[in-house]
Order: sequence, then structure tokens, then C-alpha cells
Amino acid sequence: MKITIHSSVLIQELFGDGMNKELEQKILDRWSDWFDTKNPQHSLMCFGFAHDDGWFGIIWKMCEDIEKVLHGGNRQKIEEVEAKLDHKRYFEFIQIKEKFGTLRVYHEGSYPQELVQHVRDIISRAEAESRVTCEECGRPGKTRNDRWIKTLCDNCATTKEVA
Ligand SMILES: [Zn+2]
Repeated sequence: MKITIHSSVLIQELFGDGMNKELEQKILDRWSDWFDTKNPQHSLMCFGFAHDDGWFGIIWKMCEDIEKVLHGGNRQKIEEVEAKLDHKRYFEFIQIKEKFGTLRVYHEGSYPQELVQHVRDIISRAEAESRVTCEECGRPGKTRNDRWIKTLCDNCATTKEVA
């Protein structure tokens, strides 16, 4: 993708550096159906995961749990729904980012109504976990409100201070 310096600066300002591309790719490979990375008018996932590497484990677990809810014993149902949907995805992430020191996950989909609350609960759990997980390294952390609002462990918070 070709972007001008001006717009890449803007994107960085809006979304930060984002997660390491190798980690991102692991998630995109495993759950490729759930991410549209080519269509910025529809999904902001083309800009990647807009948070640091420490939350990779939270995202991975969230996806596994959602997969269990959507597919676990319900695979046939999902396929029936997909068949009716034409080109739409039955489930997809629209944006995954850090905001005010915690994870924010936006999704949409046309999966069965009785599963909606289950999926919301899983996402809420992931967002809650980010409140106590260092965004840089994944160790236990807390939300700091110094020069910026960010959830960090003591070690990463100290490094940030020096830098
Ligand atoms: Zn840390």
C-alpha cells in the first residue's frame, strides 16, 4: 500500500504504532474470516491492531472464546446463516484499538441472536483484562495517568519515564 508521509503521520497519530506485524499476522491467519483488511470504508482493520504487543494474549484468548461460542456445536447453524448472507460475513471485527488506556473492540455480524450476549460478554471480559495488563509486555499492570493514559507494569512505566 502506498501512502504519503503526511497521511502516515496522521494514521500514526490516530492509531499509534500498533501491534508487531508478525503477531498481527498470527491472528489474521488463524481467523481470516473475521477480518477485512482491504476495505477502509467498511473496516478499520486495514490499519492493523491499534495497540501494543502486550495485549496479544488477550486478543488471542478472546478470539478462541468467540470461536467456541460461534462454532462450538453450532457449526451447522453458522453455515446455514452464512448461506443466507450472500457476501456478508457472519462475524467480523471492525476495529480493535487502545483508548484511554484500555482495549476497545468493535464488531458486527449476522450470527444467531441467541449468541449475541455471549459474544458481548467475551469482549467485555477482554476489555476488562486490558485494564490490568501491561500494554507493552503483557505482565500485570495498572492504568497510569501521567503524561498520557496507558496501562503499564511498573517496569515498563519506569522505562517510559527514562525515555
Ligand atoms: Zn510491561
